[in-house]
Amino acid sequence: MKKAYVISTGTELITGETLDTNSVYISEKLTDLGIKVIGKSTVGDTREFIYNAFVDALEQADIVVSTGGLGPTTDDLTKEVACEVMDVKMELIDEELERLKEFFARRNREMPECNKKQAMFPKGAVRLKNYKGTASGMYLIKDGKAVILLPGPPAEMSSMFDNEVIPLLKRDFSLSISKAVQKTIKVFGLGESQIEEKMADIINNSRGVNIALLARQGEVYIKLTVENESGEDSEKILEEIAGEIEERIGEYIYGFTDDTLSSVVAKLARKRNINLAFAESCTGGLLAKMITDLPGSSEYFWGGVVTYSNEAKEKILGVKSQTLSTYGAVSEETAREMLKGILELSGAQMGAAITGIAGPGGGSEKKPVGLVYIAVGSLERNVVKKMNFAGDREIVRILSAKTALDLIRRELLRGEI
Ligand code: ATP
Ligand code: MG
Repeated sequence: MKKAYVISTGTELITGETLDTNSVYISEKLTDLGIKVIGKSTVGDTREFIYNAFVDALEQADIVVSTGGLGPTTDDLTKEVACEVMDVKMELIDEELERLKEFFARRNREMPECNKKQAMFPKGAVRLKNYKGTASGMYLIKDGKAVILLPGPPAEMSSMFDNEVIPLLKRDFSLSISKAVQKTIKVFGLGESQIEEKMADIINNSRGVNIALLARQGEVYIKLTVENESGEDSEKILEEIAGEIEERIGEYIYGFTDDTLSSVVAKLARKRNINLAFAESCTGGLLAKMITDLPGSSEYFWGGVVTYSNEAKEKILGVKSQTLSTYGAVSEETAREMLKGILELSGAQMGAAITGIAGPGGGSEKKPVGLVYIAVGSLERNVVKKMNFAGDREIVRILSAKTALDLIRRELLRGEI
């Protein structure tokens, strides 16, 4: 397996001003390509530290990808330093110079002298097109190792990586052949340790398949990777292991690799030709946001209402004031009436209603922060689930919305509505 090292440059990354998202993006893509990311480093815009980072990275890895520092200013050093480390000369590329001049001319501006250095490239490097900005990236192979320099702005970096870098990596490292075989099993409603317990023996006898559990906001991803590709067998073993895991975890598995809870709900709702409508309180519309994150959701999503106050619950959804005063806004009875209200208002076949205490305030001994009631179903057939989530306001809201999606998924699968 080829090894890669990722370097993020930029002083704002080490002072904590900017979150380094580039290396996360790149690591994920490299892993998907079957390249093993063995490490990454983040360095400020300081010549010495950038130099050391490249030396270290090149010593250990076959592929080094860096981001940042391709701009025209004096703190943009990556290109020069990388060339120094690789002992490659730079040359002025007329075509790039013309491109830069044109860029400024179109904006009726004179090109500043310092921009000229953006037209300097290492000899023999492939220039990578920037679809969203001025700085071209570069891809250089020396002594069998690839050094890839990409711009810092995330949108420029990602489009360049996807469109320019991936095809070159595939070409030079024959990745289509030695591709690591991967599969992610996505689980909702079970904790990491519960899952681990259920499949301890599979983990202990994994037959060359790497099994990693990743917890992601209430979800757990079981990531399977065959590291040493042994031809066609590896795929078979991976599928075998995936099958064994499916047997153990069963209905808690909502999907695989690219699925999300909302995409799975969307697929099922479409297939069953069922229209959905939501009534939300503590999630403030997050459930509706999650379902509408997917284009085309109008096919199965009628819409939703955010009924935050008691008055809104009464006026919009027809929740009885007696229910609110007797049981409270956060109660099974209110959740059920909210569901009834949205189903009658919308005429949708299936609905979801959420009411809870997201915190940090508003909790009591009887009704603590994190207490959430989620009602899902139709007028004739519905369930109300009581949840006690732990975590801050944001996480309680996310878990509430995801739980609602999961309940909808299970109802849709059951097929009785
Ligand atoms: P420019 O020509 O814009 O100067 P550059 O290649 O020199 O491009 P930087 O100056 O390092 O890139 O960064 C430009 C922008 O991208 C900054 O707003 C920076 O915060 C952001 N950025 C840089 N590196 C990262 C990173 N690793 N993750 C997320 N954002 C980043
Ligand atoms: Mg810069």
